[in-house]
Amino acid sequence: MTTSHPARSAGSTLLAVATAAHDCTLCPLAATRTQVVFGTGSEDARLMFVGEGPGQQEDLQGEPFVGRAGKLLTQLIEGIGLTRADVYIANVVKCRPPGNRDPLPDEIEACSPWLDRQLELIRPEILMTLGNFATKLLLDTKVGITKLRGQEFPYSRAGVDAVLIPTLHPAAVLRGGGVPLAETRADFVRVKQRLQDPKPAPRA
Ligand code: URA
Repeated sequence: MTTSHPARSAGSTLLAVATAAHDCTLCPLAATRTQVVFGTGSEDARLMFVGEGPGQQEDLQGEPFVGRAGKLLTQLIEGIGLTRADVYIANVVKCRPPGNRDPLPDEIEACSPWLDRQLELIRPEILMTLGNFATKLLLDTKVGITKLRGQEFPYSRAGVDAVLIPTLHPAAVLRGGGVPLAETRADFVRVKQRLQDPKPAPRA
């Protein structure tokens, strides 16, 4: 995507970027969405989640992770002593793929400058990717989530210096039952530990 992407010229606040995103027609998902699901939570969040894309409930309500998978995500967040208001939640694509199909490479490419701006403005310390699409995009890898989870990776881009902790997508956890749920809980414990680490001194 070129530098003329509207995310780049949208202004310097999250609200300005969100407002610009709501008019986005850069990919075919614009034609079938009810609304753009930009993201939700605290601009000062130390912890940011990135999922795949809105489902039916998210498309209707305009907020990420409000359906069944979202309820599990909320429980996992609360399980480490936080609320949704403490964190920021976004997706790789901001519009619902019809029938909840996977987002296509061109759609991800067209949409990713919006996510880049969210990252740049929120500057999370911990970035938790939920499932394959977010993990592959942000780690720039083809390796699948089941191999990558249980580890942590440095994420350094556009002024963001974060620890990236990949975990399973909550919808996959709902399908998979006990083992993936236990693995995901362990990944959240890792997040909690990282949040308790002393903050690095600001750069001079
Ligand atoms: N799945 C996602 O990846 N994101 C949502 O917002 C909801 C379900």
